[in-house]
Amino acid sequence: MSAEIESLINGYHLFRKKYFSKYNKHYERLVKYGQKPKFLVVACSDSRVDPALLLSCEPGDLFVVRNVANLIPLYEIGGGYHSTSAALEFGICSLGIKNILILGHTQCGGVANMLETKKRPMLKESFIAKWMELANMACSDAINSCNHLSKEEQVDQCCRYAVVGSLKNLLTFPWILDRVNSSALEIHLWNFDLKRGILEVYNKEQDKFLHLF
Ligand SMILES: [Zn+2]
Repeated sequence: MSAEIESLINGYHLFRKKYFSKYNKHYERLVKYGQKPKFLVVACSDSRVDPALLLSCEPGDLFVVRNVANLIPLYEIGGGYHSTSAALEFGICSLGIKNILILGHTQCGGVANMLETKKRPMLKESFIAKWMELANMACSDAINSCNHLSKEEQVDQCCRYAVVGSLKNLLTFPWILDRVNSSALEIHLWNFDLKRGILEVYNKEQDKFLHLF
């Protein structure tokens, strides 16, 4: 057995000890009464940004959708396999979650890839290129306005714009918009600065992300 797999199995044994021991009432309740998460999180698949770890949450706390660059597609019906939209529908309509958190992060490989692709088009068959069109739409203004920044800063700025773009797409879902309009659902836009280890919260009035200390 490889050392990598062995480390996962050791982690599994720790999980059993922490969450599945007969003394753990929390997990017993989750099994008996089902999940009732208070937050639906749309996060990136990036291995460095685990929402449960970042926010010190326990099993049952977060209903998490992860995809490349924490993007949300436009509402559309018919055709295709809409995994992110299906997860949104389940979390909001079936579980009745009242808070959505779109969690972006700096140094996002998906966003960096999108910026690179603008100069060097990818193969048409690429799943990533198609998916990242969503971020491209959200970032087109930002890309033009941050030409003076370093490449790294451009990526980080576009990561933030992509989060705001995801909000716009999220509001095209009728059952999301209805709930937001009736104050039954709140949406929060956060961004995690990987280099500084700081969470940034989007401020609508100032139209920018502010540090959360
Ligand atoms: Zn990412």
